[in-house]
Amino acid sequence: SVAICLFTADLRVHDNPVLRAALDAADQVVPLFVVDDGVRDAGFVVPNRAAFLADCLADLDGALRRRGGRLVVRRGDVVAEVARVAEETGAGSVHLARDVSAYAQRREARLGRVLESSRRRLCVHDSVTVVVPPGAITPASRGHFAVFTPYFRKWSDVPVREPLADPDKVPVPAVRSERLPSGADLADGAPSPVLPRGGEDEGRRRAAAWLDGPVTRYADRHDDLAGDATSRLSPYLHFGCLSAVELVRRATAVGGPGATAFVRQVAWRDFNRQLLADHPEVAHEDYRPRGDRWRTEEAAVAAWRRGRTGYPLVDAAMRQLAEQGWMHNRGRLITASFLAKIMYVDWRVGARHFLDLLVDGDVANNQLNWQWVAGTGASTRPNQVIDPLVQARRFDRRGDYVRRWVPELAEIEGAAVHRPWLLPAEVRRRLDYPDPVIDLDEGRERFHRARSGGER
Ligand code: FAD
Repeated sequence: SVAICLFTADLRVHDNPVLRAALDAADQVVPLFVVDDGVRDAGFVVPNRAAFLADCLADLDGALRRRGGRLVVRRGDVVAEVARVAEETGAGSVHLARDVSAYAQRREARLGRVLESSRRRLCVHDSVTVVVPPGAITPASRGHFAVFTPYFRKWSDVPVREPLADPDKVPVPAVRSERLPSGADLADGAPSPVLPRGGEDEGRRRAAAWLDGPVTRYADRHDDLAGDATSRLSPYLHFGCLSAVELVRRATAVGGPGATAFVRQVAWRDFNRQLLADHPEVAHEDYRPRGDRWRTEEAAVAAWRRGRTGYPLVDAAMRQLAEQGWMHNRGRLITASFLAKIMYVDWRVGARHFLDLLVDGDVANNQLNWQWVAGTGASTRPNQVIDPLVQARRFDRRGDYVRRWVPELAEIEGAAVHRPWLLPAEVRRRLDYPDPVIDLDEGRERFHRARSGGER
């Protein structure tokens, strides 16, 4: 007998309930990845994530080969390809991880219908991509949690399942496979210059190194921009190279304030997913509409994208994004608030730019964090404006982060680097660095007026 293990956001052999269930269901398993036209057509395949995904697939293929199998790669519409592979191999069941985006929910429904018509079973598995599945905990009023703190309280009480042992053997039947794609096969355009290597092996190595020391300092240091003291595990969690269940179990075992704060942060993934599962439309629509009439500001948006707003901390973070396909969480908060509140530009414009570059770019986390910052989401302080100069004082006190990312300002010493407009005129003239695109106070006041109904 044959079962299909359809890999999606769970590109790993360790602690993978989908792979385990497929192996338990049949003598042979088709470990299948479909390069899905639907994902490409949704504009979701961009060079940075394509490069990382190609690494993940090669790594997964290697892990399966070490277990006597291999990865089967197909290309096309995911539902049609799964049906075809099932037909070719006589597979009786298809195993898949539950996922929450509108696209994933549609995919699951379509697969269910097509397989049912050929009397095959679709088995959808929970707690593959998250720790606590959407719907497993609900507020008294049912539905989803709209506020993180009460969600997290309940989340912390849920027993986390034991990670599964990884399989020794993965017997794969004879079936046609395309060759493993490279990043360039998957997306047109050049990736960012400095990207992390994808794959389960690399993810496990980084997770082990993180839990072996740095995590203990996370509570004190995670907001220090120059210190760069976060795990950088987000791309591995996004592609499922790492099991969130296993990561949380291992971090909990480390214990102490650092690991506790880290686990709390990982719970935000689950929070965003339970919200999106209930309301897939909030990937595009305001969760809490505020009657915003966003401004267009094309020139200022272009400056924001290029990291040339004239606000060094904003620009440093935007350049980190372009260079590494990753940005520090504090930088994401500062740059998103700058766009959505101080410039008062539609959060969707910024979210799109982030999705174009982030290796961890994720519908749930990106869109809902953008909404959170823009004050149209689950934040309990929707009108709070994050001031880049105040943030500079708190999180880049000496200016090291700015000097690292904005070479035009590298010669300016100390905190003066955050206010280049105050430098002597002759120094300013020498620097190829722009004047601020917008006055902070004006932007802030305009935003507050708009939100209080004064600018309708
Ligand atoms: P760590 O601080 O080490 O945290 C550990 C893990 O917890 C992360 O890897 C991530 O999986 C999870 N996590 C941490 N913070 C959050 C959060 N606020 N929401 C959800 N999960 C979180 N994260 C993404 O994974 N993909 C995105 O597309 C994304 N877009 C964002 C956009 C904006 C505007 C903002 C403010 C945040 C966004 N985040 C996103 C959340 C967060 O910034 C990143 O997860 C984090 O910076 C990744 O770095 P790290 O792995 O070193 O995080």
